[in-house]
Amino acid sequence: MAEIKTKICPYCAQPIPEDATECSHCNSIVGQKRHYKWYFKTSVLVTAFLCAGPFALPLLWLNPHLNYRNKILISILVVVFSWYVWVVFVNSAKLMVTYYQELFHPSF
Ligand SMILES: [Zn+2]
Repeated sequence: MAEIKTKICPYCAQPIPEDATECSHCNSIVGQKRHYKWYFKTSVLVTAFLCAGPFALPLLWLNPHLNYRNKILISILVVVFSWYVWVVFVNSAKLMVTYYQELFHPSF
């Protein structure tokens, strides 16, 4: 006796096969993979990158919207951009330190 794995239709609460995409009782589309979470929206992703930089990368890699090639491309861009921002930040910090040293301990 073959046992078919079932799930419950969210619309009519009837048992339907686990891998069914359409309910055989009420014809509703079930198990639709296009029902994405809010945090996979592009706007959320962009905001996350602007705020957290490379720390938002896991969000990118879990995103079902994007294909593998785009994920690699965006990852490289984010890493390069973050590195650039970091270098600029470190350089300006060094400049600030030099400036304040000059200010408080004049060498002339
Ligand atoms: Zn149904």
